[in-house]
Amino acid sequence: MLLFLTYSSLFFLLPLSCTPSPATAKPTIPTNLKSNNYTHGWRRFEKLVHAKRGSHICGISLLKSYFHRFGYLSGQQDRNYSEEFDSDLELAVIRYQEKHGLEVSGTLDPKTISAIMSPRCGISDSVKSGLHTTERYVYFPGHPRWFRQIPMTLTYAFSAENLIPYMSLEDISSAFRRAFSKWESVIPVRFEETGDYGSADIRIGFYGGEHGDGQPFDGVLGVLAHAFSPPSGKFHLDADERWAVDFEREKSKVAVDLESVALHEIGHVLGLAHSTVREAVMYPSLKPREKKLDLTLDDVEGVQALYGSNPNFTVESLQEYSETSNSYHPAVDLRHRSTKWAMFLAVPILYFFM
Ligand SMILES: [Zn+2]
Ligand SMILES: [Zn+2]
Repeated sequence: MLLFLTYSSLFFLLPLSCTPSPATAKPTIPTNLKSNNYTHGWRRFEKLVHAKRGSHICGISLLKSYFHRFGYLSGQQDRNYSEEFDSDLELAVIRYQEKHGLEVSGTLDPKTISAIMSPRCGISDSVKSGLHTTERYVYFPGHPRWFRQIPMTLTYAFSAENLIPYMSLEDISSAFRRAFSKWESVIPVRFEETGDYGSADIRIGFYGGEHGDGQPFDGVLGVLAHAFSPPSGKFHLDADERWAVDFEREKSKVAVDLESVALHEIGHVLGLAHSTVREAVMYPSLKPREKKLDLTLDDVEGVQALYGSNPNFTVESLQEYSETSNSYHPAVDLRHRSTKWAMFLAVPILYFFM
């Protein structure tokens, strides 16, 4: 907990701890890559665009804290990170670019900075040091899962004291029901809502700031939610986000789609870590007003390797589902993906933002 408090403090102390370099006075990040209207502190990373090894810029120390938090910079959190872009930071940037399907340059190019500023899940990314990342699903260390007889039932409940005032429990419950049902359709696991929060396997609530698990939330955008690997069942959403179940009703530019985030965090509850596949539900970031409502083949293969397949599941049924959904983004062409999967593993494809 102390480490994270230290990290949070760094955000607020930063302007006092160093003097901006003249070289950073005019960031040149393209307008279409700027996270306009993002109010979160990560916005200040924008001024680091084009920084590379040898750069000495006010804000580099904060970026080191960010990379440490999300698993890209090893060792102990350092309260006194320097403002120098050193070789350790360069390696962290390379790992980050590999994990996020960005061009691997080791420099903070505009697309990398844009990715870093994007709202994301609070769970650390699993990064294997010294190895090139394979583009596919990932597990937590030790491959934790729920060990119960298959088919199994997991119960879930909402914390009555930790909801959000502008959204009904009915709306919240419906969004989660839809998200759980998508995972149910591919593995032999049922999810059942219960009113008994204390005994539920999965305990869901909205929390603001520091809330007792050492991973404080950070206000609007930034970290959106986190859920812990089996058998924890802790599932927390940042109460300070503007959560939405219908973008027609919720017009805020920083609104976050509840069902999309629920779908992602349920993957953590089942044992999946962050995927490197940009289209996958288990990819770590989600932009405001973005929806990601369809499990991809990557998500399905990852979770089925842990639990086996639902007897009624077929790849074709997933395809049909994707075609009939109202996903904001076009669904992945699974027929193409399934036939090309071996090639995807052999030749990682580099994706780019927008
Ligand atoms: Zn996550
Ligand atoms: Zn939490």
